[in-house]
Parts: sequence; structure tokens; C-alpha cells
Amino acid sequence: MSYLVLARKWRPQNFDEVVGQQAVVRTLRNALTRNRVAHAMLFSGVRGVGKTTLARLMAKALNCQQGEPDVPCNQCESCTEIMAGNAMDLHEIDGASNRGIQEIRELKENIRFFPAKGRYKIIIIDEVHMLTTEAFNALLKTLEEPPAHVYFMFATTELHKIPITILSRCQRYELKRVPFAELVVFFARIAGAEKVAISQRALEMIGREAEGSVRDGLSLLDQLFSFGGAEISDGDVAEVLGLVDRRIYENLARALLAADLAGCLDIFEQSHAAGMDLKRFANDLLGFFRALLIAKVKARPEELLDLSDQELSAIKDIAASVSQETLYQYFSLLLKGSEEMQYSSRPRLVLEMVFVRATQAGQIVPAATLLERLDGLLAGTVPLLQGVGRPVSLAISTAEPEPSVPRAIPRSSIDSSFGTLPEQKKNEIAPESTVSQEQSGQSSPSAAVLPAGREVKRHWEAFVGYVKERKRWMAPVLQLCASARDEGGELVLKFDDPSDCKLLQEHDNLKLLQAFALDFFQHDFRVVFKVRGAQAIDDGGGDEAESLLAERRVLANDPMVQMTTEIFGGQVGSIRTGSR
Ligand SMILES: [Zn+2]
Repeated sequence: MSYLVLARKWRPQNFDEVVGQQAVVRTLRNALTRNRVAHAMLFSGVRGVGKTTLARLMAKALNCQQGEPDVPCNQCESCTEIMAGNAMDLHEIDGASNRGIQEIRELKENIRFFPAKGRYKIIIIDEVHMLTTEAFNALLKTLEEPPAHVYFMFATTELHKIPITILSRCQRYELKRVPFAELVVFFARIAGAEKVAISQRALEMIGREAEGSVRDGLSLLDQLFSFGGAEISDGDVAEVLGLVDRRIYENLARALLAADLAGCLDIFEQSHAAGMDLKRFANDLLGFFRALLIAKVKARPEELLDLSDQELSAIKDIAASVSQETLYQYFSLLLKGSEEMQYSSRPRLVLEMVFVRATQAGQIVPAATLLERLDGLLAGTVPLLQGVGRPVSLAISTAEPEPSVPRAIPRSSIDSSFGTLPEQKKNEIAPESTVSQEQSGQSSPSAAVLPAGREVKRHWEAFVGYVKERKRWMAPVLQLCASARDEGGELVLKFDDPSDCKLLQEHDNLKLLQAFALDFFQHDFRVVFKVRGAQAIDDGGGDEAESLLAERRVLANDPMVQMTTEIFGGQVGSIRTGSR
């Protein structure tokens, strides 16, 4: 009794009263007024969104003896019989229990006769996907050429189980889940009409729980109304429906993100004591973090989330205070935890362990933010280790050299916590060789000499100072240069160790250095690197071990690595070399 009361009482008796489904309703009414109703219709959608309700409304409209084509009068004999459930010309068949070929044969026999009272015979088959293949085949012929006095209306929750041959012969109407906001408004209207005092928050809890199904929501309301009488508190909702107040998740999320383990456990204990279902709780908490992630990445999160304005602003507020990476990490931990809980005999411990892990994991600083911080450090504007009080994970990788660089220079890339250096190409700096790089595009063969250029050797220190003001990191690297000379239009920089000049040789850096040189010396130099200590690196394959050792030394001394380890307080763990 309690279940059906509201659903029956509030079943729409006219198209105007249908909750949601505006598009489908408009199409159906148009079909009625234009007298173009298809003889086979298929309504699909999740449970409780109005499939059979719409089919019955169509039946009523088709057979109504008075009134507008799309407005059943609800007064004539046909309408009242349909509403009372005893109309002779309306056959409602449950596909689940009448699924065989025999039932379909009987049905086909029946529709050969003209309607008893009304204009049309109307056959509604609910859960039509349950029919057997033979039954569908038997139906097929009738659907191809339905008698003019017969309308078929099928309803299904599982559209994909309907044979394509049937689908192609039906006019299809796909019903959507009813939006959260519409459900809440509808339930509020019912509560008002039933003279039950219930808070907006409680209605929202029910609306969310209904997940787009009007009937599910109404059955929850039924349970509540019979429990609480004329006045229903938020506590009643939590108790009767086993729903946890959304604020609990909000507080728990804040505590988790603040790494406040004690706070988390307190909040959890309160809910547990109140008798909530553990797996359900974990699932809803996961849902809350999903909402946070969506709020973080989407400009209009309300399009995806069933939230009231108040809840939405709380979620946006929390999401704004943490990085997307952090939210993703928490979401992953919770997802893993709630999966583990399904199979655990101690789900509570599993969930508590998730809290411990999550609070220990800390916040993740995105690589882009770290790089910005790095720039700040290099410019001397940010103090060392600012804001890095908690464990930090990061990933930095340098870009591939651009194709215009003639020689492939090994580059280092540093991954999480600097434990390893990923594979390198075999070192290609040849012993005693001059590693030169073309200035891409800009250099003219004649190396046009600008008048009144400064002399390199004499002004080298000043040049380093000039560079320091523009690209801070480059200055100390240039200071490692053993000698800098102007050799007939080439700026020859000699280094004792190939690793010292490796960073400078990178395409972008080299271009920058050449630009600085042009500005400072007023001469369009081609920059050439000469490496003195290169004999240590033997690429001939004669002594593999020694060459690897040398390469490792080069990598460990790489200024980029050294700078990074200094800034983040890390150290080089192991170095791996090989092909990239
Ligand atoms: Zn009527």
C-alpha cells in the first residue's frame, strides 16, 4: 500500500503533468494533433521515467471521445475506463511473463477483431525486450503492415536487446533521466500538496537518490511520509533512507585534503555510529571526489552534477584550493579502496586505511607550477623550497632536440624524485672533435661584420655580466668556459669538460647565446664549442665500460641535474644509459 500511493495518486493524467521528457512529449502531441501517430511506437529509458505513463496517455488521447486530439478529457467513458484499468480495447501485456510465441499468436488472433468500444485497439507491451526471438519473429509481420485499427506501444529499459528488425519498424522515443532540479521541484510540490513539512535539503537528498527516476523518488517519499507524518526532519531522511547528509562528505573531503587524519576518523566514526552502510558511504565519498574533479576541470560543472547551488559553491570552493593532480590521486585511492571493500571481510579497516594513505600522500604540485617556481628561483624572486613542506612528486622531462640541430647531443631528463635518469642515446661527442652548431637560418655565409664591434677576449667578463642580467643560469655556465676567442667570425668557446657546455649547446639556448653575443659584441657570431677533455669519452666501442663510466660522470655533472637537485634538495640515485 505505502509504495504505490504517491506514484498512483500523482500519475500524470495529461501531457502537461508529465515530469521531464519535454522533447518527447512535444513530439507526441504534435503527432496527435496532425493525426500522424505511428502504429508502432517504442519507448525506452531507465525505470520510472514515464515510459508506460506516456503509452497510456497516448492510448487515452487516441480513444478519447471528446476534447482536443492531444488533450484527453479524462471524463468520457473511454478515458475513465483506461484510468480505472478496465478498458476493453487497451491490452497491457508484461513482456517478462508473456514472452513466448504462443502469447504472441494469441495476441495476433485478438487484433484481427475490431475494437469493442473505442476507435482503436491499443497493445502496450512492457519490458518488450524479454520476448523470445520466435515471439519477435511472429510479431514482425504484423508490425510490417499493422491493421489500421491497432496501435502497438512497446516499453523497454534495455533498448539494445530489441532486434534491429523490430526497431526499424517502430517510431522510437528515448526517455531521459529526469534532471535533478526538476525532480526536486516536483517532490516539493507533492510535499506541499500532501501538507508535509520537509526541508529543501531533505528533498535534494531524495532527488539525488532517485537518480533521475520519478518512481524511485516517489517511493522514497512514500517511505518518509509514512514514517515522519506531517513533519520530516533531515535526520529522518538519513535514518529512514540510510542517506548520509552531504555535508558529512564535504567535511570529510576538507579534512582529507588538509591531511587531518584525526579529523577524518572522527567524522567517519560519527557517521558509522549513526548506522550508515559502509560500502555505500565509501561510494558516496567517491562520488563527492568525482564532483570535485569535475568542478576542477569543467567550466560549467552543474551540467554533469546533480547539485543544489549551495552544494555546488561548496564543491567549487574546495576544488579551487587543490590541484587537479591531487584530486585525481585522492579519487584513485578512494576508487581502489571502495573496490577492495567489496571483497573484504573488514571493510571498515580498508576504508580507514584509505584515509591513512590519502592523508600521507599529500598534495601534488603540478610540474608546470614547479617549473614556474624554478624560474622564480633563478630570477632570485622566490626563496628556496617555498611551500614545499610536504612530500612532493613531480615529473619533468625536457623536449626532444629540434631537427635543425645537426648533432644529436645527449640530453638528460629527470623523472620523479630524481631517482633515475632515463635512457640516453649513446654519447655522440667525438673525442678531440669540435662540436659546432649552425645558427639556424640567421647566419649569412659572409658573416657580416658590424662596425665598432667589441673585442671578445677583453670584454668576456662584461659579456658574462650582461648575460647574467638576462638569463641568470647561463652566466655561471659561461664562467666555466676556459677560453673565449674570436676566430675569424666564429666565437670559439673552449670547455674542459663536455658536460659543462652541454646545456648551452641545446638549440634554444644556443640561439639565445648567439643573440646575446650579437647584441653585446655587435657582431653576428657563429658560436663554436671546443671540448678539451673529450678523450675520456670514447665512442669507438673499444672500451664500453669506460665510455659508460665517462657518460655517467657527464650526466651526474650536468648543470641542469645539479641545479635541480640543489633546488629540490634531492640527489641523484642511479643513472641509466642506453638508447632513448
Ligand atoms: Zn476522454
